[in-house]
Amino acid sequence: MDRQTEFVLRAVEDRNVKFIRLWFTDVLGFLKSVAIAPAELEGAFSEGIGFDGSAIEGYARVYEADMIAHPDPTTFQLLPWRTKAGTARMFCDITMPDGSPAMADPRHVLKRALKKAADKGFTFYTHPEIEFFLLRADAPWNAPEPLDSGGYFDHTTLDEGTDFRRDAITMLEQMGISVEFSHHEGAPGQHEIDLRYADALSMADNIMTFKVVLKEVAVGQGIRASFLPKPFTEHPGSGMHTHVSLFEGDQNAFYDATDEVRLSKIGKHFIAGLLAHSHEITAVTNQWVNSYKRLAWGGEAPSYVCWGRNNRSALVRVPLFKPDKASSARVEYRAIDSACNPYLAYALLLNAGLDGIDKEMPLPPEAEDDVWSLTDRERSSMGIDTLPRNLENAIAVMEESELVAETLGEHVFDYFLRNKRAEFDEYRRQVTPQELETLLPRL
Ligand code: GLU
Ligand code: MG
Ligand code: MG
Repeated sequence: MDRQTEFVLRAVEDRNVKFIRLWFTDVLGFLKSVAIAPAELEGAFSEGIGFDGSAIEGYARVYEADMIAHPDPTTFQLLPWRTKAGTARMFCDITMPDGSPAMADPRHVLKRALKKAADKGFTFYTHPEIEFFLLRADAPWNAPEPLDSGGYFDHTTLDEGTDFRRDAITMLEQMGISVEFSHHEGAPGQHEIDLRYADALSMADNIMTFKVVLKEVAVGQGIRASFLPKPFTEHPGSGMHTHVSLFEGDQNAFYDATDEVRLSKIGKHFIAGLLAHSHEITAVTNQWVNSYKRLAWGGEAPSYVCWGRNNRSALVRVPLFKPDKASSARVEYRAIDSACNPYLAYALLLNAGLDGIDKEMPLPPEAEDDVWSLTDRERSSMGIDTLPRNLENAIAVMEESELVAETLGEHVFDYFLRNKRAEFDEYRRQVTPQELETLLPRL
């Protein structure tokens, strides 16, 4: 038994934990949980806990349904909102009964990509800016109402959202998730919490935890927290801009003090790879019909494939970091939203960037203008194209992508395409309130 496992067994006893929740994630990014009693814990560590994979979205066909969840002791945390009976959680790795990794496990998909990076000497760090809405709980689902009428960085003394953020951040910190910033975002009821950077696997776990914590705190305060990318036609949507960097040991491989932008060749090839593969990975970074409503709105959500320094309309931004602070050299990918599956999305960002490095892709010129204000013709003369405009386009490009097929593996790739095609078909046949309101009186 390793030290981590011993630590968990001791903690369960010392802290009087009554339930241990085993967490894993389905292909669409929904959290799954099974609770075990402390007496089962040793067995869970040595043999895992069996479950029926055919009941989990994207996991298995019925004839290969048995799967095993193996808790990862390094992810042990008490759940601060379960105060009555001590409850803890661990994330799990999923295997088949023969011990081989389950191809449908998103954590495995990310681990495979991280292993490839590690073989090249790289560690992949990410840091997300997570935007979300706080909504009144008494409004119907089809007519959401924001909790407040604040705007960007607003602070009001009686701001319910500020209280919410304080409670949520306290709980995140109790679970070992460090928060860097938080503020009110541009739309009424919209907030943002930025997590301190971590390796991509811990961060994907943290994002899953983040969403649960925010929902729990919201329920506790009689409100709703939502990660839907675009709940309001007339307001900006919620993104999950993610800052990424590669380290070689303790050296930031993106940093070069002698370069004008302070970016190394590796950093520049990485951006070129992100841009080159951005169309193919969008179906995963922005996986819902609704995600494309956010990307179509303009403002600060990107629609065009280009990079810039202080350019918030660009897909990839190189933030202005302190020129001598090598550790903060990084690249911000702005399309992704928090309704994605973070394991799959981060695996794709990594592999897109690594492909840029492998192929030494040249970095296209920086977009200096507000690319939103240019005409289509101006954009195309500058070689700037458009991200997929809806889920159907995004799926069509993904289907042709070797990079996405390889990164996700055949099982996840096929399931994802099938599931998303069905979602778009269902959407396409809907008659919407907007059509009725504008056309019914006239036709
Ligand atoms: N809410 C904007 C988006 O959807 C981002 C605003 C910002 O720059 O933080 O991406
Ligand atoms: Mg923001
Ligand atoms: Mg940002």
